[in-house]
Amino acid sequence: MAEIFHIPLRMCISCRQRDSQANLLRIQCIDGNLDKFKGRGRSFYVCKNCLKEEKKLSKALMRQCRSGEKDKLMNKLKEIITDDR
Ligand SMILES: [Zn+2]
Repeated sequence: MAEIFHIPLRMCISCRQRDSQANLLRIQCIDGNLDKFKGRGRSFYVCKNCLKEEKKLSKALMRQCRSGEKDKLMNKLKEIITDDR
């Protein structure tokens, strides 16, 4: 496994594929709700493909946030995505 370029790879919490940070959305969970990563605390990544796979993604998010409030998490995620563009 020779790496020619050193690109740090991050893993998507939903599909567990690795990709460069630029292709992933970095978010975090604060008090059971999602937020954009603000430079502190534990964060995780979601790839762009998984943003379209809501069913699978919502499960991964609930796992990460230890929360059962699927709709709340998904709504917040959509807010974060819209904010970002
Ligand atoms: Zn993914």
